[in-house]
Amino acid sequence: MAIDPKFLTTAVHAGSDPEPVTGAVNTPLFFTSTYVQDEPGRPKIYDYSRAGNPTRAALEKGYAMIEGAAHGITFASGLAAEQAVIQLLEPGDEVVVCDDTYGGTGRLFRRVLGKYGIKFSFVDMTDLNKLQQSITAKTKLVWIESPTNPLMRIIDIKAASAMAHKVGAWVLVDNTFASPIFQRPLALGADLVLHSTTKYLGGHSDLIGGAVMVADDQLHEKLRFIQFAAGAVPGVMECFLLHRSLKTLALRMQQHEKNAMAVATFLEKHPKIERVFYPGLESHPQHQLAKTQMLGFSGMVSFYVRGDYAETKRVVGQLKLFLLAESLGGVESLINHPELMTHASVPPEMRKALGISPNLLRLSCGIEHAADLISDLDQALR
Ligand code: PLP
Repeated sequence: MAIDPKFLTTAVHAGSDPEPVTGAVNTPLFFTSTYVQDEPGRPKIYDYSRAGNPTRAALEKGYAMIEGAAHGITFASGLAAEQAVIQLLEPGDEVVVCDDTYGGTGRLFRRVLGKYGIKFSFVDMTDLNKLQQSITAKTKLVWIESPTNPLMRIIDIKAASAMAHKVGAWVLVDNTFASPIFQRPLALGADLVLHSTTKYLGGHSDLIGGAVMVADDQLHEKLRFIQFAAGAVPGVMECFLLHRSLKTLALRMQQHEKNAMAVATFLEKHPKIERVFYPGLESHPQHQLAKTQMLGFSGMVSFYVRGDYAETKRVVGQLKLFLLAESLGGVESLINHPELMTHASVPPEMRKALGISPNLLRLSCGIEHAADLISDLDQALR
């Protein structure tokens, strides 16, 4: 599918105003923890870098623009961003979470935040009846990941948002897999969009970061206060690198998608592959939904190798271009074994029910030449 060509321009210019003193076209790295004040309690603009920093502010403005939001708030990691969102809630509140999320999200909710009186229930949201049954008067937040990690399921963001809003709950979409180039959750009815900026927004596997984008001013104020008061802010170098990466985001995403489509099509026809999960394939059970709510299918592909773990491990061991590593969204192609890597913290019975089995592999297709990626997979499968 084609991206909105406007994103090519927005990505380059978002938040990038020339620096007023020197005219530098890029916002400099303001490596400072504090700022002089003319008189007590009257800072010029900023007073302390946990509260605000110009390099971070430029990035946050850029993120708001690329996501079609009014505000962007950045954090030290994707999980720090998730924690800040949960800190909006009170003991007794309930969160309905889609069951096929990044393993670390479930771990944070089950093992860290669950003990503060907030109830998290994990639900298969591809079935909207199940979502409806899980929403109660105490539900304050519906947490969606779409496409899901690692099985690339698609959740109907518009329908889920309408259900959540009936009880006054917020809807958050973790948009890490799609990126703002391919999915616009706020336009579909969501209230908050979250990114592990470690992934596509960073794009070069060289940093850890997180961000939340919102349209509502009050929600922004609350989150901004948590960012300042709890303090999980990103460093200046990370902000600079993330802003630089934003300029090429639209270009990179087009190549990621092109490669993923080529790889998924190749794998689907391969006799050694049992099943491929990619929303861009017509065989994907929610291909039509993906086509209506996404502008492109992004660069992530999962598949079952025909065989057991030993066979799967053999395939991984033969790959030369695809690097075996956690994470995704970088310019280089990666392969991951969800059961033993990214989703090892998911309870075994839940992993089994979801289909995260020993023969499941997940690819993050980079921006290399598609033919090279396919020939690497081909020789490994042979
Ligand atoms: N959300 C998704 C979809 C992820 O894949 C990840 C990490 O892999 C996170 C959130 C957590 O982000 P981080 O690793 O930057 O803390």
